Amino acid sequence: MALFFAMRFIRWRLMFYLVCFLFLSARPTDSRPVVFRILAFYTDRGEPDHIAFARQALVFFDGAARKEHAEFASTTNWDDLQPEKLNHVGLVVWLNDFPKTQSQRDAFEKYMDNGGRWLGFHVSAYNDADTKWLWFLAFLGGGVFYANNWPPLPAKIIVDDPSHPVTHRLGASFEAPANEWYVWKPSPRLNKDVKVLLTLAPENYPIGLKDTITAGDLPVVWTNTRYRMLYINMGHGDKIFSSNQQNNFFTDALSWILETK
Ligand code: ZN
Repeated sequence: MALFFAMRFIRWRLMFYLVCFLFLSARPTDSRPVVFRILAFYTDRGEPDHIAFARQALVFFDGAARKEHAEFASTTNWDDLQPEKLNHVGLVVWLNDFPKTQSQRDAFEKYMDNGGRWLGFHVSAYNDADTKWLWFLAFLGGGVFYANNWPPLPAKIIVDDPSHPVTHRLGASFEAPANEWYVWKPSPRLNKDVKVLLTLAPENYPIGLKDTITAGDLPVVWTNTRYRMLYINMGHGDKIFSSNQQNNFFTDALSWILETK
């Protein structure tokens, strides 16, 4: 009889532990619906410094997306820029490249014109006379790539609007890690629909050794308020995520674009 009770006691205890385990392993976040699906496009060919950035960015933004309860996926296949694939995507990210074919471009235009979201880094906004994509030029705010500094260098960055949700943790200015900074002509700031959030401080000039930028307005981060979009010029090399302050800005940029109505 004692053995019978002992066995029953052990069975109840096991049942108790099982219930505890199931309860504790079901974290509250698991029951929340996935609000956003993020799809990041990148290339693993070409400029090694752009690939280095993309590899680190995939890890960083995968982690940041988890905190936002968003699903993060990535692809090197730019043909995934097509209506069926973008159907349930809440945010498209371009890390280090841009679409080249007409069908990829058409799909992206349609996606953005219908309320899609875009976060673009560094070379993903590159365009020149050979790009021949006027919609994208207007989407960016009108700036064509004009020049860059070389080698990549750290720089003091001015915060244009420290009260904006994207920049509110940066203060009035901050030191950004080494990057290749791009000049755009005309400056996107001249477009009344563009809101510039970060600008290269003039005291950085001259910046560069082989290629030097000596003067001029150099917006670094901006949004074209006609779209749910944010362009961030950072994205060259493996130092981009070496600053906690700048990382906070990246996190805040992701939160903001996900929440943009
Ligand atoms: Zn670059």
